[in-house]
Amino acid sequence: MTYTNWKDYSLETQAIRAGHVRTPEDEHSIPIFATSSYVFKSAEEAALRFTGKKPGNIYSRFTNPTVNAFQERLAFMEKGERCLAFSSGMAAIMAVGMGLLKAGDHVVCSRSVFGNTVLVFQNYFAKFGVETDFVDLIDTAAWEAAIKPNTRFLFLETPSNPLIEIANIQALANIAHAHNALLVVDNCFCTPVLQKPFELGADIVIHSATKYIDGQGRCVGGAVIASDEIIEKYIYPYLRTGGATMSPFNAWVFLSGLETLAIRMKAHCDNAFELAKWLEKQTNVAKVHYPGLTSHAQHELAKRQQSHFGGIVSFELEAGKDHAWKLIDSTNMISITANLGDVKTTITHPATTTHGRLTPEAREKAGIKDGLVRISVGLEAIEDIKNDLSEGLI
Ligand SMILES: *Cc1c(COP(=O)(O)O)cnc(C)c1O
Repeated sequence: MTYTNWKDYSLETQAIRAGHVRTPEDEHSIPIFATSSYVFKSAEEAALRFTGKKPGNIYSRFTNPTVNAFQERLAFMEKGERCLAFSSGMAAIMAVGMGLLKAGDHVVCSRSVFGNTVLVFQNYFAKFGVETDFVDLIDTAAWEAAIKPNTRFLFLETPSNPLIEIANIQALANIAHAHNALLVVDNCFCTPVLQKPFELGADIVIHSATKYIDGQGRCVGGAVIASDEIIEKYIYPYLRTGGATMSPFNAWVFLSGLETLAIRMKAHCDNAFELAKWLEKQTNVAKVHYPGLTSHAQHELAKRQQSHFGGIVSFELEAGKDHAWKLIDSTNMISITANLGDVKTTITHPATTTHGRLTPEAREKAGIKDGLVRISVGLEAIEDIKNDLSEGLI
């Protein structure tokens, strides 16, 4: 059975079945291929494989059956042509930059992307002559105005972290293409279960598999999905040479993560929506950021673009940092950690952790208030999550 058969199946089925090519041992569950290299039948066969004239495994930096299975499964789920796995989400982002950019190129990037993503462009690619302009995620006109003749790609995450703002992927894809640039979307918060950036015109999709794809906070990994042409020409040669490879063990963990992703995402969304509605009723909460609420500025866009509203909720406490810290410290069950996408609910204070290195002015500009708290809503009973927060909200 070849993997192409899975194209006509639904995402839930692909997530469970696609990618596994059964070996002569007839195993039902996918094996971990713990091997760094592969044996050739002859010198001639070795030569043919190395030059790419004959398909087959060569060396696990760039060919491993367990990693291949993860790549094929995720490519189907995203409705992309081809996927390559990396050692982390940051390694995947680095690969897109290293593969596509050269000195003299220009990038337009959302200001509200993952902190290390900002540093990749601002500190590292800048050293090699690539200039990046950062713009407001939801200000479509600002994106267009920032584009230059040498702009290679636009880079964004939607929804954003921690304010859960929504970018219009289709509008930004159209703008990018009108200027001969590509649109890169980090789809980590939604996963293919909630959002399909390729259907909206994106050219490259990035994942940190560390978050919802694993779903239980065990492994670090990442992926790039794009057309055969982009992967073959720009990303694969960099992976083969750069070496930020996903280990077969991690691929095996992520494969089982994908099998339950659809039902987990639905449960995360249901709990998050319930929590957001409850938080909105609390007297000390000034504002709740959740795209499922009609009070969210891009509620209509989120409804069109996503199949559900996601598992992350943030909210502002009127009394600022002291109250935010008091709330966090009053929890018994919820984990105080900046990680997200776990079955366990996590809570964090962005102004003093993920965004703590910014100056107060930069934080103000980014809209990160001192009273802001972010919750990655897990799969515990919603009543227990509410109860754990109740005391500290007073
Ligand atoms: C965590 C995260 C990353 C980085 O992924 P790692 O696997 O931690 O390297 C990139 N983008 C987003 C949106 C993230 O949340």
